[in-house]
Amino acid sequence: MSVLVYTESENGSFKKIALEAVSYAKAIANEMGTTVTAVSVNGGDASQLGTYGADKVLEVANDKLNDFNAEAYADVIAQAAKAEDAKVVVLTQSADAKFMAPLIAVNLEAGYVPNVAAAPESISPFKVKHNVFTNKAFAITQISTEVKVLGLGKNAFGLKENSALATAEAFNPTLDDEDFSTKVISIDKATDKVTIADAETVVSAGRGMKGPENWGMIEDLADVLGAATACSKPVSDMGWRPHGEHVGQTGKPVASTLYIAIGISGAIQHLAGINSSKVKVVINTDPEAPFFKAADYGIVGDAFEIVPQLIEKLKVFKAQNA
Ligand code: FAD
Repeated sequence: MSVLVYTESENGSFKKIALEAVSYAKAIANEMGTTVTAVSVNGGDASQLGTYGADKVLEVANDKLNDFNAEAYADVIAQAAKAEDAKVVVLTQSADAKFMAPLIAVNLEAGYVPNVAAAPESISPFKVKHNVFTNKAFAITQISTEVKVLGLGKNAFGLKENSALATAEAFNPTLDDEDFSTKVISIDKATDKVTIADAETVVSAGRGMKGPENWGMIEDLADVLGAATACSKPVSDMGWRPHGEHVGQTGKPVASTLYIAIGISGAIQHLAGINSSKVKVVINTDPEAPFFKAADYGIVGDAFEIVPQLIEKLKVFKAQNA
């Protein structure tokens, strides 16, 4: 019996959310007095998972799994869970994981809790805190099935180093045609830039920027920080920025480590998309702007004065610390 964790990777490297998921699995395994087994599909170096607490890594190397396929990946993870007699399966809240989680839960006859916000409140009975209502409230849910599937929210637990052996073992699941009833034909990336969903830092701007011609400084600030750019809904509605950048209840969710909001009022529908971001910095001329209530750091002032100064200071800082 172990805690099983699926570790997502991209181009052969584990994503940060995978390392956070391993850290989380380790915390549960410690509570349960058991070990952590990670499943890696065409993934990175197993020893990296050991740093965060994986005792064993089941390595699946299969060209058919080069592109994500929810049915096939869910089957791989369910087979690994059965092979390991895992009672808890830890996933993330990535788009891929959200797609797979119900399939895995059905296969394992498991209860599934998405958007998990913290280590379990208790193991027996198994109770876990999770975000609900677009992250505006928490619920504590008891899972009473023998097997539990959890979707860990990004940045909910953080990275915790727990040195473990991470013994790598080849794992060869049985995959048949039914696993590939859908196939990825091609992938057209809208941009080579880091996406809002994956970005560690997001620089976002709103109607306070007055017009699309003023986005140069937003892009410059994003460049110097290695950040993705985002915007509020009206900005994309007016065509100032592409719709892919629209953040919020009706746009994309952001779970970055740093979210900088410039000239955005902080309407509830916007905040719904950024509640999972860790540190929020707000720049706004209006000290009464609602965003300041949700902010960790706030600058009351004109973006047209502050942002260029911030860019210069960051450039100097980077040059001094290169
Ligand atoms: P504004 O509300 O116009 O705010 C502009 C801000 O810029 C102000 O706070 C102002 O003080 C500040 N400002 C002005 N000049 C400067 C300056 N020079 N320097 C610094 N600050 C300055 N919105 C979303 O963003 N995402 C959503 O997903 C979303 N979904 C919605 C769904 C529904 C059903 C509805 C009804 C609305 C939704 N909205 C959404 C819209 C939302 O209610 C707000 O209208 C919108 O977020 C406001 O965008 P904004 O903050 O860019 O603009």
